[in-house]
Amino acid sequence: MHIAIIGAGISGLMSALELAEQGCSVDIFDQQLAGQAASWAGGGILSPMYPWRYAPEVNQLAQYGKPLYQIWNEKLLPITGIDFQIHDTGMLIFDQEDFEIGLNYATRHQEPMQHCELLNRPKLEKINPYISQQFQQAIYFPHLSNVRNPRLLQSLICYLKQHPAVRFFEQCPVEKLMIQNKKVQGIETEDGQKFSADHVVITSGAWSQQWQQQIQRHIPVHPVQGQMLLFKTPENWLPTMCMNRVMYLIPRQDGHIVCGSSMAETGFSTAVDADTQQNILTACLEMVPELKQFPIVKRWAGLRPSSPQGIPYIGAMPELENLWANFGHFRNGLCMGSGSARLLRQLVLGQDTLVDPNAYSPLRLKQQDLISC
Ligand SMILES: Cc1cc2nc3c(=O)[nH]c(=O)nc-3n(C[C@H](O)[C@H](O)[C@H](O)COP(=O)(O)OP(=O)(O)OC[C@H]3O[C@@H](n4cnc5c(N)ncnc54)[C@H](O)[C@@H]3O)c2cc1C
Repeated sequence: MHIAIIGAGISGLMSALELAEQGCSVDIFDQQLAGQAASWAGGGILSPMYPWRYAPEVNQLAQYGKPLYQIWNEKLLPITGIDFQIHDTGMLIFDQEDFEIGLNYATRHQEPMQHCELLNRPKLEKINPYISQQFQQAIYFPHLSNVRNPRLLQSLICYLKQHPAVRFFEQCPVEKLMIQNKKVQGIETEDGQKFSADHVVITSGAWSQQWQQQIQRHIPVHPVQGQMLLFKTPENWLPTMCMNRVMYLIPRQDGHIVCGSSMAETGFSTAVDADTQQNILTACLEMVPELKQFPIVKRWAGLRPSSPQGIPYIGAMPELENLWANFGHFRNGLCMGSGSARLLRQLVLGQDTLVDPNAYSPLRLKQQDLISC
């Protein structure tokens, strides 16, 4: 079975991996270099932040993130030599108004990753000695981890480029779906090349709305910009991830600390601006004041593929039996990435699915009023 995949972020690369490992041949296309968009820009927290604020559908897929990435890291590492570092730091949350609901959520959902406890100041200091004195309490999620997402992407790209059944087409925008008799015959690229396929998978993240005229359905996915900055501290300096008022610190093993993030509608712009960067910095120093002695080594922005309630579209597109969706993961595409791709593969190949697929179905996409926009 031959598959064309449009978009080489986490959604496209993981889908390619899942399908290629099942014996499919895969062509994967990206308008830029593979793995450079939101999936590179993200923080890599392997759980929705404040899971109780998200729809159960999001949390359900996210719980597969860490265990599946662990399995893939073990499989890919000997071949690629790239460890994508699933870093078990745990997470501290300082938002007082979330303490009770967070503790209740942990009791109701007996998932190891959502296990949570309330810490007083002495316990807090033991777990992380750098937390500002203004925080006398926190809720602590000892089993929350982060993945080093740029390395995860590098590893996937390296593995797939060596795979005999996978071809990459980078800096090669797909312009058109070739549709005939309610079937997709393949895709056409901007430079006029045509590629036939038995199935086509759309994994084009924040750019997914571009397909709505062709499939005549409204696709409510648009870019929401998030800015980040990066500190460099000594190795393993900050022991835990920290979160307050939706701003976070994510320590990597080598002492880099990813800090973010903002939310803004700026179209497809990935420019950073001084005010937003200052807000992120202020929020991070409020949690860990000693960070100010370390250099900021990078600043960037990425485009989240926003969707209603952040529930991704995964499954067969309406009325086109061999066109598939795996897009619209909004703030949680990295933690949902491995589970989403597994579900997509199971649906394409008619296998039993790891979760009930109905809640993610693209049949939710509403009919487009005759090509008005
Ligand atoms: C600042 C920030 C922080 C984040 N933090 C986290 C986090 O901690 N945890 C988490 O789980 N998630 C996080 N996210 C969200 C996560 O990064 C995204 O949900 C996820 O990366 C989306 O993956 P994707 O593959 O669908 O999209 P992308 O990675 O954006 O990939 C889509 C690809 O499709 C390509 N494409 C589009 N149109 C075409 C076309 N016509 N032809 C060819 N190629 C095309 C694009 O070039 C792009 O490479 C964060 C995001 C941001 C921006």
